[in-house]
Amino acid sequence: MQRREFILSGTAAGLAFGAGVTISVRAASAQTGAVQVAAIQRFRVGDITVTALSDGFIDIAPAVLQGIDEAGIAELARAAFLAPEIALKGAVNAYAVEAGGEISLIDTGGGTGFVPSLGMLQANLTAAGIDPGAVTRVIATHLHPDHIGGLLAGGAAAFPSAELVVPAADQAFWTNADIRAQAPDGAKPFFDMAGAALAGYGERVRLVEGEGDAGPGMRFLPLPGHTPGHSGVILASGAESLLVWGDIVHVPAVQFARPEVTLAFDTDAAMATATRKALYDRAIADRQMVAGMHLSFPGVGYVDRAGDGFAFVPARWQYI
Ligand SMILES: [Zn+2]
Repeated sequence: MQRREFILSGTAAGLAFGAGVTISVRAASAQTGAVQVAAIQRFRVGDITVTALSDGFIDIAPAVLQGIDEAGIAELARAAFLAPEIALKGAVNAYAVEAGGEISLIDTGGGTGFVPSLGMLQANLTAAGIDPGAVTRVIATHLHPDHIGGLLAGGAAAFPSAELVVPAADQAFWTNADIRAQAPDGAKPFFDMAGAALAGYGERVRLVEGEGDAGPGMRFLPLPGHTPGHSGVILASGAESLLVWGDIVHVPAVQFARPEVTLAFDTDAAMATATRKALYDRAIADRQMVAGMHLSFPGVGYVDRAGDGFAFVPARWQYI
């Protein structure tokens, strides 16, 4: 079994990278040979057609979760009717958006060069009838490898006609040579992968500040903490809307019940918690449909209150 580890320790420029934590992402099993139906699902948001696309999954090591121990994870997993190792199997989703006569893609999964349990995006795009050459825009919620790894294929742009739309604050952070120099060795690949992805799109990179325009019918919503520029994307058509919230949640069985649980990958854990709690409250108040890159595929639904915490209510299948 192939296995890669990112060992993150120490801090860089006052930003935590998960002191002393070994972060391990790996494939859960060898190929079984089982044939699955392609992991795609289309739904409508007003006049916009959204296609949820799976890139695969990553196993999240228990030690990556901060503020909860293994017994706590097991208890919450049991409450969600999941074995702990299943609760920690993180979906990796992307979303294609057909609006204004154009096809945009929000995030790209990890591609084939990050971990072997990822890299299904291209096959699922093909199954959905979406030609990568017809994608005119890729929007990155942030520049972590499981979101931008699919931007490149064999070192070249996997979406040769697309502009790459990136929150300016994330570009500034992940291309800052001083921050990279101070980062622990285990974190340096994150900077390098972000830099390679940006370089692959060269002049076609468009940086967006704050709540700026992300594409037809779409605006960014800054949701900082997980990374400095981490942003959601709000799609709106008529009275309907969808908030694609990126990495507000990594482990649904844990972080809806306990929103204060953070990830070793969070650059600012306290801010990530505050952002998550505030967004849960806003989503409930607005009855906002949300989609998340690490919510179990297709990762679309609503937030509700449950006891002292929160719960995820999956959206029902649309018969379109
Ligand atoms: Zn992620």
